[in-house]
Amino acid sequence: MLRADATRGLIRAYACAMRILIVEDEPKTAAYLRKGLGENGFIADVAANGDDGLHLALTQHFDLIVLDAMLPGRDGWSLLQALREQRLTPVLMLTARDGVADRVRGLELGADDYLVKPFAFSELLARVRSVLRRGPARQPETLQVADLSIDLARQRADRAGQRLLLTPKEFGLLALLARRAGEVLSRTLIAELVWDMNFDCNSNVVDVHIRRLRGKLDEPFSSPLLHTVRGVGYVLELRSGD
Ligand code: CA
Repeated sequence: MLRADATRGLIRAYACAMRILIVEDEPKTAAYLRKGLGENGFIADVAANGDDGLHLALTQHFDLIVLDAMLPGRDGWSLLQALREQRLTPVLMLTARDGVADRVRGLELGADDYLVKPFAFSELLARVRSVLRRGPARQPETLQVADLSIDLARQRADRAGQRLLLTPKEFGLLALLARRAGEVLSRTLIAELVWDMNFDCNSNVVDVHIRRLRGKLDEPFSSPLLHTVRGVGYVLELRSGD
């Protein structure tokens, strides 16, 4: 009994020091989160739009930010991107849609975790505690595959020191392939993660973008990185002998 009490006391003392910023435009959700976090020993502040949220996040200390993706004005992704240029404050993103692409986008931009609305408060609390235990974001800022380097924060890719001029979709496609370098990714998976759509066999959107990406990524260089695995999909890797 004593031991449990002592643990509870410690947890409470730990939680008391923690400040959380809630960036949420729906007043009811914001109030519900603030109340719940307050009851669990956190100090919670609320910003009702992205610009106020970013201002608070950059000018005050917070141990964690609960960030709604859909906000009026500056949205959650834009806030996260601007925040990550200066700070590694852990971010738990709330996304209304169950879109895989939304989640991937948030994680690529440096969110530490996400939660799909609607959620139970107990689940949010568990995620908050888990992110706080992990500490500040340690997302890789750059990906390296052979002589290709990808700067995720700045959204730029260079090969052999030469800048590749990619469209946002081409960049997203390349970042996905590089993150999972050496792994064959199917058209279905690529379509789902980059275009947030179910793969339609009649659609050649993936192949078209792969072709364009290949023209920029591989054609000017001697060793190709992007390979087609017939009947399966695509893989990014340096093959010896190429
Ligand atoms: Ca919202």
